Amino acid sequence: MKTLLRKLAEGKTKIVYASSVEDEVLLKFKDDVTALDGKKHDILPGKGVINAGVSAKIFSLLRRRGIPTHFIGMVDSSTMRVKKLNMIPVEVVCRNIAAGHLVKNYPFFKKGEKLKTPLIEFYLKNDLFHDPLLSEEHLKVFGLMSKKEINEIKKITLKVNKVLSSFMQKLGLQLVDFKLEFGRDKNGKLRVGDELNIDCMRLWDLKTGKSMDKDVYREGADLDKVLQTYVQTYKLIVGKEPK
Ligand code: UDP
Repeated sequence: MKTLLRKLAEGKTKIVYASSVEDEVLLKFKDDVTALDGKKHDILPGKGVINAGVSAKIFSLLRRRGIPTHFIGMVDSSTMRVKKLNMIPVEVVCRNIAAGHLVKNYPFFKKGEKLKTPLIEFYLKNDLFHDPLLSEEHLKVFGLMSKKEINEIKKITLKVNKVLSSFMQKLGLQLVDFKLEFGRDKNGKLRVGDELNIDCMRLWDLKTGKSMDKDVYREGADLDKVLQTYVQTYKLIVGKEPK
């Protein structure tokens, strides 16, 4: 970006900048890749462009399907223009197939087993406390979400799951699970915020079962292989080479 922008916040993989437009902010995607609550960290040159491009494609798809999101457009290939939201510090996970935490923490499923119905879970967004699981009672008593908001968030999450699952299926990918974050806009309306890309969903190749997402990094592949996977998934989802 050419002009000097005022930084509002910086996270592990994104920077939030102020915008000259009221009620908007800019989200710049960095080339950093992290896992294990930030303990594993590397730089993958080009990842910012890949994750911004995939997010833009998916947010546009959701917007077309009437799902409220923060996405407005792109400023450059690694920066999105988004509505300013008051973010709720909760990660909403939706699962179709057993993997990750579900297999590690419960004795009910083997990795790859299809769940009878999609499972929605809530986690507190807090690396220091390792993102503890939250019940709906926790959400209400801790003042994180009202009962009405919980119901609305569950409804939106299931709709995102339907739209995304069928989009990925057409590309030869299975949507195993994904994570959403929500915020309230200036009118108090709930919108899907943050990012929606290879870092926050599990995608398995329908034919080979191969991971096409951040699990490749989590599981310790060398960085060339990780970048190759990000580029392949980008090409499938966006339909062109990342630039
Ligand atoms: N996820 C995420 N951020 C987190 C934790 C999970 O984006 O801090 C995503 C993850 O990529 C996966 C889904 O949420 O698609 C479920 O992840 P899980 O709870 O199994 O945790 P993991 O074992 O991946 O840490």
